[in-house]
Amino acid sequence: MSSRQDTPPVLDALVIGAGFSGLYMLHRLRDELNLDVRLYEAGDGVGGTWYWNRYPGARCDSESYYYSYSFSPELEQEWTWTSKYPEQPEILRYLNHVADRFDLRRDIQLETRVEAARFDEAASCWEVRTKRGEGGECGETVRAQFVVSAVGCLSSGNLPKFDGLDRFEGDYYHTGAWPHEGVDFSGKRVALIGTGSTGIQATPVLAAESDHLTVFQRTPNFSVPARNAPLSPEEAADIKQHYREIRDTCRQSPFGFPYLATERMAAEATTEERNAVYEDLWQRGGLRFLAASFGDLMDNEDVNESAAEFIRGKIRATVKDPAVAEMLLPHDHPYGTKRPPIDTDYYETFNRDNVRLVDVRKAPIVEITPRGIRTTEAEHEVDVIVFATGFDAMTGALLNIDLQGIGGQTLRDKWEAGPRTYLGLQIAGFPNLFTVTGPGSPSVLTNMPVAIEQHVEWISDCIAWLRERDIARIEARSDAEEEWVNHVYDQAQTTLYPKANSWYVGANIPGKSRVFMPFVGGLDIYRERCNEVAEKGYEGFELQ
Ligand code: NAP
Repeated sequence: MSSRQDTPPVLDALVIGAGFSGLYMLHRLRDELNLDVRLYEAGDGVGGTWYWNRYPGARCDSESYYYSYSFSPELEQEWTWTSKYPEQPEILRYLNHVADRFDLRRDIQLETRVEAARFDEAASCWEVRTKRGEGGECGETVRAQFVVSAVGCLSSGNLPKFDGLDRFEGDYYHTGAWPHEGVDFSGKRVALIGTGSTGIQATPVLAAESDHLTVFQRTPNFSVPARNAPLSPEEAADIKQHYREIRDTCRQSPFGFPYLATERMAAEATTEERNAVYEDLWQRGGLRFLAASFGDLMDNEDVNESAAEFIRGKIRATVKDPAVAEMLLPHDHPYGTKRPPIDTDYYETFNRDNVRLVDVRKAPIVEITPRGIRTTEAEHEVDVIVFATGFDAMTGALLNIDLQGIGGQTLRDKWEAGPRTYLGLQIAGFPNLFTVTGPGSPSVLTNMPVAIEQHVEWISDCIAWLRERDIARIEARSDAEEEWVNHVYDQAQTTLYPKANSWYVGANIPGKSRVFMPFVGGLDIYRERCNEVAEKGYEGFELQ
């Protein structure tokens, strides 16, 4: 093992991932702190989620004007969004523009996967091994004082292990690793497995593009119309004029949205009053239905059921065949306890002649045959299978890296019973490693760019503070981590969230420990706590 004197760290910081988080992290560390930073990215372009998820119908569920960076007023003014909910190609263009505008590419190494990282205790730095090249054989070992994981919460795809997939004679794709050249569905019989946010976005587009679509649904979902529309030049100008107020509200909101938490309580309202609120939000569309309907929506079962029943009523009214409508009605989880999708004509699509819904809860998939999908009831012949089966969320991408901390402890061992972090920012036993929107932070329960900016700024402020004081090493203390893990758990128990078999608890991955991973207490409260920790000289961290 080398000492700090004979092998100084090559880099001040190494960033993993070139999505929203990694790009801003690189900019902050390099251009504001003047550090020597390198970013490694597995893809052959920047964009993270928006680089990989190119499936038909992919667009953002948050509105463009607040699903964007706030750190640069110039960037805000020069970039004009064309629609309310931007499509994947537009967000990818935006992130490429950011990479160019801030001259980030010269410090980004593409097509390079971080394979392993080991903390060198004597030198207080990380030794990181990368993999690149066609077979992944080429790579290098680099050393960095700090490593920042910006690997994303939903980036490790989940392709269920169906028997026979290797013998399927057609083509198959996972939505999270979509071919760049696109897929021509014309004249094809298509199977779509999965009805989460992705499957619900893809369904209407696949139905329109293909000869026939069969949707394999395991759990019906509650979807609210997005009400997407182009942004007129007047609307775009108005947004630009009000960016500062919009951003301020996002920062104060528990969800990172440009509206504050509602104090209206449904428990005190009549059925008519509740339905009037739901109807108004249904007509306005989008995630407001969750965030701005009632303050007791996510902790009062009766209130939640009134929202759920309202949505079921809309499904019954939209889907013409009562048997199909019945299959689409969610009953097994409270509304919002799985990340709620928003859609454009999802339920309407089941009125098309070329669309069929198959309930794989009632008749599970047994195997993939050379010609299609066999359930316990029938074989469905198809030419293409689209897997919209989600991700090993929040932990998968980080655990794919062989991380070894103090005493050779691996992260996989440490997180065997579920992720443990201090504030979702650091892991005891893994000094100088920061995680942007890691488990234990509000991340996936918020409008991500707001949560990402808060983390990136906290981490870069922390690194600046350490360097000013010549402190080489920062590590979350075990007791602080323990207290935070318990707090995250206790907060979740005050809500309905743990009642669902969601990816928030890891239920979608066979064998994954069931732990509610995000912090439900709100981004506003969480931000205050992070600021307080910093103001107290990084309380809960060991500094050396
Ligand atoms: P998901 O929410 O995890 O949905 C996966 C779907 O596949 C579920 O319907 C699931 O059924 C089904 N499934 C999984 N394994 C299966 C199996 N073995 N057999 C049959 N069905 C199976 O994944 P996602 O739709 O990709 O969305 C993940 C997250 O990404 C979202 O919740 C959201 O946070 C984010 N997202 C955001 C946007 C956006 O903002 N534009 C768009 C898409 C996704 P069960 O429910 O029964 O497990």
